[in-house]
Amino acid sequence: MPAAIDRDKVKALTEQRERKFREQTKQSKLRWEQARRVLPLGVSSSFQAQPPYPIFIERGKGARVWDVDGRQLVDFHAGFGVMVMGHAHPVISQAIIEAAGSGTHFAAPGARMVRVAEELVRRFQLPQIRFTNSGTESNLDAVRLARAFTGKQGIVKIEGSYHGHFDSLMVSVHPDPASIGPRERPAAVPFTEGMLRSVLETTSVVPFNDPDALDRHLQERKDVAALIIEPIMLNIGTVLPKPGYLEAVREITRRHGVLLIFDEVKTGVTIAAGGVVERFGVVPDLIALAKAIGGGTPLGAVMGTDEVMALISEGRVKQLGTFNGNHLSTAAAEACLTRVLTPAAYLRLDAAAARMLAGCGAIIDRYGLPAYPVGISAKGCVMFSPQPVEDYRGWAAHVDADLAYLGWLYHMTSGVFMTAGKDEQWTLSIAHEDEDIDRFVAVFEEFAADVTG
Ligand code: PMP
Repeated sequence: MPAAIDRDKVKALTEQRERKFREQTKQSKLRWEQARRVLPLGVSSSFQAQPPYPIFIERGKGARVWDVDGRQLVDFHAGFGVMVMGHAHPVISQAIIEAAGSGTHFAAPGARMVRVAEELVRRFQLPQIRFTNSGTESNLDAVRLARAFTGKQGIVKIEGSYHGHFDSLMVSVHPDPASIGPRERPAAVPFTEGMLRSVLETTSVVPFNDPDALDRHLQERKDVAALIIEPIMLNIGTVLPKPGYLEAVREITRRHGVLLIFDEVKTGVTIAAGGVVERFGVVPDLIALAKAIGGGTPLGAVMGTDEVMALISEGRVKQLGTFNGNHLSTAAAEACLTRVLTPAAYLRLDAAAARMLAGCGAIIDRYGLPAYPVGISAKGCVMFSPQPVEDYRGWAAHVDADLAYLGWLYHMTSGVFMTAGKDEQWTLSIAHEDEDIDRFVAVFEEFAADVTG
């Protein structure tokens, strides 16, 4: 039986830890106040804004970052899941320095771009690829290709998934549970103001981990070009696909003549060399990549079958971008993918995951926390829910945001840099040593003991 959580105690501990946070991070606060004069919320992406205020980072090396208050923190935030290769890896840094010395940008093809393309094609089992600069752009291109290929307009997405900041997919990302309608027919809810309203008619929503709901939806809607899915949901903590779910999704989409897009922006080269495609053995029609593929620089990619990508070769779909395949990014990517994220690196990430999940699991059992650890290779988290979460509605109903916030404050005030809130997860890197993971677990134990004590 999980321990009952004393809400007054959580509140008192939160106040205490927020005080500690403020004491430790005075320079960040000052910089943030200065930043807010010129940058809304004092950040460059609203995801970086978080209470009490964002921490300003000065530099990173290996598994560590240093903030402007001079604190050294073990980094599990990893730049929102990018830095599986660790900060300032000498091989990648050297490649960037060499590339920069020979010019940073030409907007013309180069040999490195081709080598990175070949490496990603090898890893992800789709034959053709084009580069972009972000996950948003990769998904945007994937959606456009799917629409052009099928001649249909409709897109189906999973309730609670995030695919970037463009209109077609900013639907039901983290919708208010009061406005989402029945589970069998979820409402399409805008994530931001300023969106084209017509998007809510073309983008519809189904629950994760429910192949029957998808099948029914596609029987009803005949205008669907593609289903886009985060095959592991990583914007609501960590929610794994149930056994057989991805295979069923593959079969159902194929049967309905709907293209399947895997958004592997987060899973990409992090949970295995070839992401979900490799780990689960399911190959979609299109894959969107970004984040870790650039070795810590901005690089994205869209991959597809020969038939779909022929639309680009034939000039029917315009896949564009001044910085696509940039000299600097592809240099970092080549070094990262061919020399740093080797087969041995993935074994290391798997071993780190096993240690982290076992460590957190043991604490949860010892203190009877209403929570469970979940993860796969570099990605995972503690879900503060007494029962397993299978989809967005379960996450919204059962994951305890107050405990997640308090756990985050414990880490942030004890030398661990972590993503805030209940949406994100940790990212393990090849630079993490056993003692770094043990540090995370030890702070988690302190939190567990205080909350249940
Ligand atoms: N897809 C997923 C699954 C993501 O998590 C994100 C960003 N967190 C994106 C797409 C968007 O990527 P970017 O921020 O590089 O545009």
